[in-house]
Amino acid sequence: MPPDRYEKEKHVSQQNQPFANDSNFLSRRRFITSAGILTAAAWLSPRHLFAEGENIVLAARKRAKTTDITVQTLQTTDITVQTLRGNVNALIGSGGNIAVLSGTDGKLVIDSGYATSCAKITDALAKMHPGLIKHLVNTHWHFDHTDGNEWMHSEGAMILAHENTRKHLSTTTRVEGWDFTFPPSPAGAIPAEVFDQEKNLYLNSTTIALSYYGPSHTDGDISAYFVEAEVLHTRDTWWNGNYPFFDYSTGGHIKGMIKAAETNLAKVTGKTIVIPGHGKIGGKSEMTEYRDMLTTIHDRVAALKKEGKSLEEIVATKPTAAYDSKWATSFITGDVFTKLVYAGG
Ligand SMILES: [Zn+2]
Repeated sequence: MPPDRYEKEKHVSQQNQPFANDSNFLSRRRFITSAGILTAAAWLSPRHLFAEGENIVLAARKRAKTTDITVQTLQTTDITVQTLRGNVNALIGSGGNIAVLSGTDGKLVIDSGYATSCAKITDALAKMHPGLIKHLVNTHWHFDHTDGNEWMHSEGAMILAHENTRKHLSTTTRVEGWDFTFPPSPAGAIPAEVFDQEKNLYLNSTTIALSYYGPSHTDGDISAYFVEAEVLHTRDTWWNGNYPFFDYSTGGHIKGMIKAAETNLAKVTGKTIVIPGHGKIGGKSEMTEYRDMLTTIHDRVAALKKEGKSLEEIVATKPTAAYDSKWATSFITGDVFTKLVYAGG
């Protein structure tokens, strides 16, 4: 991403922080309808987690430039599917985990990571079967999954996504949870083809089944299932080992996250290799544990809410306490996750 776009985004972001900086900016009606998420937004504001004045979005892009990308070949001991699985790789290290299917039809890439990782991703792709990126699928609109769209498109990739993903990439979109306003993406980064519920592709002797979750992490989340290889990419509906973020500014909520976790579990067997949006490659047992964690915390927060407890009172009861040592391993602490569940529930 060129530095002038950073500056532009920084400028737009700084000019558009009504929740964080200037509640007078809000009309009374807007303030009342926003009040439920105002506190959560303040808690989620990453200012206190990063260097003074450093926004989480800008900091992540900066870091991605130097982060090494590792290539993980998805293998199995099952000889009959080994070759196909060998065609599916995961790239770890640039934003959300990236999946790559390579072969004579060219590469199909699921998500494009940070634009600042372009050189590192290019190096990683060069370790696979030669061939250009012909297809790029965006699983949702978030910057850590679509920032690289423009450079991948400039190298020939046709971009495919859910229709809501194109909507968010095409317009100015604010994420309260990140305290950041994203300007519309450049023309080359906008998906050329969109779908609503299901879409199947057939490339490199592999069926790629794309399927819409419904509102969960955002309102445009899709999964990608490599049918013959039995590899499922869940994207940000599954975070392996962290409390997940979900973006209530663009349609995400905890109930949708739980529903998506159920959908994912219904799709996998003990043999399925699963690539989460963030965290290590895993499978059914880790996904079950994740679903149970989400459900338990949601039920606790919902019960306290029903009793009429305020957000602050609910946070004070530490409903995530039993899970924090395992799951509070990223910028989403137990308290932040409680706020997210409350705001999105
Ligand atoms: Zn995301």
